[in-house]
Amino acid sequence: MRFTEFNFHPSLLEGIEASNYETATPVQEQVIPPILDGKDIIASAQTGTGKTAAFLLPLMNRLMESRNDNSVSAMVLVPTRELAIQIGKTLEGLSYFTDISSIAVYGGNDGDNFVNEKKAMRNGVDIIVCTPGRMIAHLNMGYVPLQGLQFLVLDEADRMLDMGFVDDINKIISFLPATRQSLLFSATMPHKIRQLARNILKDPVEINI
Ligand code: AMP
Repeated sequence: MRFTEFNFHPSLLEGIEASNYETATPVQEQVIPPILDGKDIIASAQTGTGKTAAFLLPLMNRLMESRNDNSVSAMVLVPTRELAIQIGKTLEGLSYFTDISSIAVYGGNDGDNFVNEKKAMRNGVDIIVCTPGRMIAHLNMGYVPLQGLQFLVLDEADRMLDMGFVDDINKIISFLPATRQSLLFSATMPHKIRQLARNILKDPVEINI
């Protein structure tokens, strides 16, 4: 299936072309339509399947239709700084021709980055990709504008639970508007992931690749 069949915004199609994606991968074919329809998703998908673009593309397309300029509009939670950096790069490439702004926010940096991250969030950056610990640090410091948040993505959710982030995740979610679209991706689906999904997702579409 070609990306033009999804009716993406032309500037998003430009970014897809510049990233050298021609046809959608199986996970992209299955995940993109329900996300464009506004559905919550629980998907089992491994790294290397194209799962990152599978959630980023429909999310960006929807934000191009409506978003709040004074708030973060989408939060992507990931287990590690390496994954935050990698998703941040994919996001920059795909959004290059759009007016969507994004920032990767992760731990283990000097103070300067903390200040830059704070500035970007207060200026209403559209998409943040972040590790749970770093997000908690920002939330504890004060005001992160989340009142207009429309999307929450949990990527590699099983790894986040294995790394002990469950309390951080639940705390972060307590700061988010209840009306939002939530997407959960996990390589494995143990009981504790199902439990987390029940707390976070509303009538999710289940996708197994
Ligand atoms: P991921 O599973 O998200 O880590 O993606 C694995 C790799 O596949 C990344 O390098 C992506 O840039 C690339 N990729 C994702 N979607 C496509 C596509 N439709 N066509 C070609 N490459 C892709």
